Amino acid sequence: MIYENITCSVCGMACEDILVDIDDDHMNVENACLMGNAKLGELRSPHRIKGPYIDGKVASWNEAIKMSADILKDATRPLLFIGSETSTEAMHVGIEMAQYLGGVVDSNATICHGPTVMGSQDAGKPSCTLGEIKNRADLLICWGSNPTESHPRHLSNFTLFPKGYFTRKGRMDRKLVVVDPRRTKTADIADLYIRIKPGYDYVVFNALSAAVRGQEVDENIGDMTDVSKDQIEELADIMKGANFGVIFAGLGVASSIRKNNNVRAVELLVRELNRYTKFSLLANRGHCNVAGFNQVCTWMTGFPFGVDFSRGYAYYNPGETTTVDLLDREEVDALLVVGAALASHLPRKVVKYMAKIPTVCIDLSHCPMTMLSNVVLPGVMDGAECEGTFYRIDDIPLRVKKFIDPPFNFTTSNEDTLKQIYTEVKK
Ligand code: SF4
Repeated sequence: MIYENITCSVCGMACEDILVDIDDDHMNVENACLMGNAKLGELRSPHRIKGPYIDGKVASWNEAIKMSADILKDATRPLLFIGSETSTEAMHVGIEMAQYLGGVVDSNATICHGPTVMGSQDAGKPSCTLGEIKNRADLLICWGSNPTESHPRHLSNFTLFPKGYFTRKGRMDRKLVVVDPRRTKTADIADLYIRIKPGYDYVVFNALSAAVRGQEVDENIGDMTDVSKDQIEELADIMKGANFGVIFAGLGVASSIRKNNNVRAVELLVRELNRYTKFSLLANRGHCNVAGFNQVCTWMTGFPFGVDFSRGYAYYNPGETTTVDLLDREEVDALLVVGAALASHLPRKVVKYMAKIPTVCIDLSHCPMTMLSNVVLPGVMDGAECEGTFYRIDDIPLRVKKFIDPPFNFTTSNEDTLKQIYTEVKK
């Protein structure tokens, strides 16, 4: 059976044109990149988790739900980590349950673009949609970002190569500038590549703002940043000369020294540029629905991630109420993880602590996170086995559809699984 216009639930581009040809004994995926192909391949993977486990042994669904609820309700301050490849509807249930339990709720932004969200809240967010970029943008600047490898269809399908209404010649109507300490694959196809010293983005953003305003830039700036005064003035002229420019800020901006202050500085640069032309900034967000968690969490609690309800109200202080910090200081006593391989990505000390406290995990396949969890519940693939909502990197919500049933019948979605746990908790 062939299904068209399927949404890929891997990276922030959330490509909506995927074709899946699937039946009992074969599967073929078209239009997706290698990462999208691999994720959809999980539908028929022999590693797929098809039933619950308690302490490594096969268990019944009801037992696993009850034990998950017991772990959460018996804890003083549980941490609920809702991963970004699940729907905003599931995130909504997770946030509500964390509030009910007086626990903490967090998501992937805590270890990726959290500083971008904080910088945007400080300085405003001059944003635009991917459709506007396709139809209008004639200047793209990838700063600390290598979308050729991190978002494989970013340039080909959405931003650099497609032909738009005012960019009829596609690539030939656009200029690509890359600013990065490394000569990446994206830099290889850029019209201009500027090598910057790691950790000096903040200085260069401020120097660019000065150059855009027509102020003098220090002659010696190149000694500090590896970006010369001439390069800064050349880039300022390119930016002011564009009809519609976009800066794609990657983790090279958000996760280098000065973090959210880098993002604040680049947002202020974009604000300055809008005195002369149309300019926007988008974060090249890694996971499919990582922007969705920030949206839902903000409208439910007022804060975008790392929200602590243990005081009886929503409290947010990144560095204090965020996942790595809480686990590092051993300040949470139970953990629920939905669709996130935390044990593969967090510091060793933190993972050791995760192995000590009672942990519940909802996931599609076995991974180090499922290996250290007391209860493992099988995950449902959003956008394939259930419908839901994803937010793309430009914060546009997309409704994704279901085209196949999950390989079990005790739950219909991660949202449903969380609701079953929440019902048991409230009992
Ligand atoms: S670019 Fe991203 S969303 Fe598109 S197919 Fe590849 S992994 Fe999926």
